[in-house]
Amino acid sequence: MGEPHPTAIKLLEGILEGNRVALARGITLVESSKPADQEIAAHIVEGCLSGAGKSLRIGVTGVPGAGKSTLIEHLGLILVASGNRVAVLAVDPSSRISKGSILGDKTRMDKLSRSPNAFIRPSPAGETLGGVARTTRESILLCEAAGFDVLLIETVGVGQSETAVYDLVDFFLLLQLTGAGDELQGIKRGILEMADAILITKAEGNNLDSALKAKAMLELSLHYYPDKPGGWKPPVLLCSALEGTGLDALWEHILEFKAMGLQHGTLMENRRNQNLKWFRQSLDSGLHNFFYSNPKFKKTFDSLVQAVESGTISPFRAAGQLIRQLE
Ligand code: GDP
Repeated sequence: MGEPHPTAIKLLEGILEGNRVALARGITLVESSKPADQEIAAHIVEGCLSGAGKSLRIGVTGVPGAGKSTLIEHLGLILVASGNRVAVLAVDPSSRISKGSILGDKTRMDKLSRSPNAFIRPSPAGETLGGVARTTRESILLCEAAGFDVLLIETVGVGQSETAVYDLVDFFLLLQLTGAGDELQGIKRGILEMADAILITKAEGNNLDSALKAKAMLELSLHYYPDKPGGWKPPVLLCSALEGTGLDALWEHILEFKAMGLQHGTLMENRRNQNLKWFRQSLDSGLHNFFYSNPKFKKTFDSLVQAVESGTISPFRAAGQLIRQLE
């Protein structure tokens, strides 16, 4: 990396002072695909590293309409009122198709967005899931360096986006609509296993009965899963963002999870594993790009494709022959 660009120095300074405009501009650079922007972004990310890692990163997933934005807004307001600084990011690969974004609608999280201690960032449009996950990861670092101590990362759970978010966060919260029976069949396989807590939303009035039934069924299902690292048992909780019930209890559980994770070292271990996973994934995709964009291998590759097609070489040997060219 060369000398930092004056823009990088200025924005970094602003981010480290907690300036939200500088943070937003920094994230825009992180999300940009222009090489010049990427160069500046790399300096900013580098400069943020030492101030990063200090927040609690919370993933929030659930089907559209489950109440994610409403919950994030209400929980966010409680948190800023008690002195926290809250950043909200989104991982939304569907925005590429719909050209919209889960946090793009300006009317959502209206109250929270007006708080000087909150920062809300919609998902970048026009990105693949891998792309959004990478830029979100870097955006997390920037938010942390800017002094945000609670990060809420929302996803709609399409096309593996829960897994991408799961790999970015400390605590993974699954929102589930009320209703016993049928709805629970709809929970994607594997997602219950990822959840650190399940929150049944809209548990109020006529819904309360079915919410309690859903809670009992979910508790029964969870019974068959092994405990999480450190012995954490994911609770099934109820909430009504409308009536303001259940949010304090949710936050207490999250804090208990954090305390337990710090005590047993599982919080840091999880982050180390996430870092290693990211390193491997970045290396894999880097090697893949290096290989396929390098004209040196193209000729041999084309001739081997023909040889495999005509059956004169086994696919396995053909791949080996190409890989040896890397030596
Ligand atoms: P998202 O798509 O998961 O982000 O869901 P939203 O937060 O946009 O909520 C979907 C709808 O459910 C909206 O009309 C909300 O007003 C409504 N909603 C959210 N939370 C509650 C709640 O606790 N009680 C009730 N009755 N409605 C809620």
